Amino acid sequence: MAPRRHPAGVSFKSPYRNAVSAGPCCPRDAHPLEPVEHPSKQSFLACPACFGSWFDSDGLKAVLKWSVGHTDAVSDGDESPLAKVYEMGRQKGRACLKCPECGEEMIAEEHRRDSYVLVDICPSGCGKWLDNDELRRLIAYARVYGV
Ligand SMILES: [Zn+2]
Ligand SMILES: [Zn+2]
Repeated sequence: MAPRRHPAGVSFKSPYRNAVSAGPCCPRDAHPLEPVEHPSKQSFLACPACFGSWFDSDGLKAVLKWSVGHTDAVSDGDESPLAKVYEMGRQKGRACLKCPECGEEMIAEEHRRDSYVLVDICPSGCGKWLDNDELRRLIAYARVYGV
């Protein structure tokens, strides 16, 4: 099922446009990433097609911090621990994504040791990619365990 909204609650200026962009594109569907501004005043890039997000590491932190304080901002989705472990295993089996900025293969790393959320990180430090679902689950995690 396609996600209906971005997990951190940002909106897009021009969803699903067919623009050709010289800028960074979505590593999942190659759609041009759009700059969005989160209610936390943090700006980052996001894909208007799949609602994935591209953060620098401070950006992700700021969005998580804000979301923890705004419990109505996003829906958590209650998952059992077993479901989380299963989901992480499924993600590990996927092909590597390429960095939207430098094109290098990204490394899937768990966000802290017990979150069971894999974040795709550029080895050259361009940023971090989170799928729609990954960001949603990471916000749920941060509410309980901190940022
Ligand atoms: Zn996308
Ligand atoms: Zn990179």
